[in-house]
Amino acid sequence: MSLRLSGASLQHGNGVHALRGVDLSIDAGERVAIIGPSGAGKSSLLGLLASALMPSAGAVEVLGQQPWQLSARARQRLRTRIGLVHQAPPLPPRQRVVTAVLAGKLGQWGLGRSLLNLLHPSDIPGAREVLARLDLTDKLFAQCQQLSGGQLQRVGIARALYQDPELLLADEPVSAMDPVLADHCLNVLCRHAEARGVTLVASLHAVDLALAHFPRIVGVREGHIVFDRPAAEVDQAL
Ligand code: ADP
Ligand code: ADP
Repeated sequence: MSLRLSGASLQHGNGVHALRGVDLSIDAGERVAIIGPSGAGKSSLLGLLASALMPSAGAVEVLGQQPWQLSARARQRLRTRIGLVHQAPPLPPRQRVVTAVLAGKLGQWGLGRSLLNLLHPSDIPGAREVLARLDLTDKLFAQCQQLSGGQLQRVGIARALYQDPELLLADEPVSAMDPVLADHCLNVLCRHAEARGVTLVASLHAVDLALAHFPRIVGVREGHIVFDRPAAEVDQAL
């Protein structure tokens, strides 16, 4: 199911206009990279698609629904169908990696004791399998606070893959990784999206990574979409 922004603007609480009249339409199963300088509005755009931020004007349609026409409860249900990959995943420092991955399916970050009871040891092989794809099996029982920024980003990706959502939104998912690892992890994300027919939208500041992994590139600058083209038509020197 598609994603659509029509004349969508976003004004943050401090009055900053992060997005101005953005039109964007993404079909089911597409893989799209959002590129642009820091402060351009990439995170804000992903926030609208995630149904996390409400537009100050215009319309948003996510997975065939208009999140801001729904009740809070229905909007929450819609969000559970979306997998978010954060630049810095908000994982509790003492949480084990395995718990962090399994909790993705519950749509939780922090896990109280009652939710922890919902996790079952028989789920651990599933978590181990996604972590293996990201070369992180040796950290299965590490605490999140023992991990580097790049390792935490990989836990965030593993969590979203394990969740197996209908839509994957990733905000600078590989920014703390070296180029080889970044390339590998984007491959894992893209292959997953392709295999599952999942729509994937990722913001990236590395243009070469965007061009290498995404068929469609959307350029954002000062709250506007400045281009929207197939990767093959985007100038490498951009
Ligand atoms: P990008 O992801 O491209 O770096 P952002 O969407 O984070 O861009 O930011 C777009 C603009 O909105 C910037 O001017 C930024 O300072 C501002 N902004 C982003 N988030 C907030 C917020 N929570 N409160 C106030 N201003 C914000
Ligand atoms: P949290 O860090 O969130 O408190 P736990 O440390 O309780 O999470 O671990 C989460 C899950 O991983 C539990 O099911 C626990 O039994 C299992 N687990 C933790 N450490 C190990 C270990 N060394 N070997 C096998 N299973 C473990």
